[in-house]
Amino acid sequence: MRRLGLTIAKLKTMRSRQRYLSSRLQGFGTTIFATMSQLAIETNSVNLGQGFPDYDGPELIAEAAIAAIRSGLNQYPPGPGIEPLRRAVALHNQEHYGVIYDPTTEVLITAGATEALASTLISLLEVGDEVVVFEPCYDSYVASIAMAGARAVPIRLNGPNWDFDFEKLRSSIGPRTRAILVNTPHNPTGKVFDFEELSEIARLAIENDLLVITDEVYEHLVFEGTHHYLASFDGMRERTISISSAAKTFSFTGWKIGWVVAQPELIAAIRTSKQFLTYVNGAPFQHAIAKGLEPELDLTREAKLALGPSRDLLIGALDQLELNPMPTAGTYFVNCDISSVTKEDALTFCMRMANEAGVVAIPSSVFYLDREGSEHYVRFAFCKRTSVIDEAVSRLESWLD
Ligand code: PMP
Ligand code: GLN
Repeated sequence: MRRLGLTIAKLKTMRSRQRYLSSRLQGFGTTIFATMSQLAIETNSVNLGQGFPDYDGPELIAEAAIAAIRSGLNQYPPGPGIEPLRRAVALHNQEHYGVIYDPTTEVLITAGATEALASTLISLLEVGDEVVVFEPCYDSYVASIAMAGARAVPIRLNGPNWDFDFEKLRSSIGPRTRAILVNTPHNPTGKVFDFEELSEIARLAIENDLLVITDEVYEHLVFEGTHHYLASFDGMRERTISISSAAKTFSFTGWKIGWVVAQPELIAAIRTSKQFLTYVNGAPFQHAIAKGLEPELDLTREAKLALGPSRDLLIGALDQLELNPMPTAGTYFVNCDISSVTKEDALTFCMRMANEAGVVAIPSSVFYLDREGSEHYVRFAFCKRTSVIDEAVSRLESWLD
């Protein structure tokens, strides 16, 4: 129990001042994913926290990476990424969303979506600019916006359906607003933005001459509804920076191959910071992902097919355990509203669950700029083998009994 108290105290002070850290990054501490995965190791817990599959992606893609390493494709690739991968990304977006991009000037390969987001924000924002984000939001957004010297302006997604107030979105746009950042399918809620919501975002962006940055890393993990590609909306191609990655689509989260797609002037600007962040990354993995994206292999559907049984199993079990799983249309995640089970905040609940039940989840409150009203959401990841989900469920059953 002493360790539990200490870890809670540590997590609660995650936002506290660090001596050597630049003022721009004060309060960001250690990510919740690193913290909770470490806790899972320390407590020997089933880790339903950090979103990574506990199995490999398609064998054919793994073999392509091995073949690339063996054939000596191990030196720096070209700055914008290898040509076959840029071509494969452009073709993918044409086939799936009907938008045509020039692989030479309109596609940039990055070290995962994380670097794509960071280099986009660092390259395009002026100090003091504002970026509208939908909260809860993925942790790297606010940190990268801060690194750019800009400010995140949150628009709240309201549970249980995670809808938002159009009027609030409209009134959040001011003279310093430079961009709206849209993550669909959305982490941590599992929301898939619908056509009407995206049309409204597009309308506002055009009216106010804003850029729109989309994070679509879960584009192929939609279980209910449809993923709409914002760049394909009327008037949006020239102002949308579409970001995605191979991590979730191919279940190789550790390879860190991502991409940015946008019109040439935007790509040129984004490349300017990207070249000084990593310059390039993952040469043999770039070749393997280019292979994986070949349309005739049809591998972009595999991850969703693999996830289905684990998703059904976990959501059904959380419901039976009366942990109140909320609607989730896409991604790796389901959130529970724990308010009818406990008066504890999500962080305390998650710490106790790790220590007493041996199951790790993520307190979704950490994804809010203002935590007020968010303290009862807990995110569980279902991107794990069914045997692992079974084990977590049986531990939770005994714990809650
Ligand atoms: N955006 C979201 C919404 C995510 O959940 C993640 C985590 N994979 C990322 C970006 C980062 O993706 P990558 O691993 O490709 O850097
Ligand atoms: N995207 C993963 C999640 O949301 C975590 C990736 C990371 O640890 N940066 O769980």
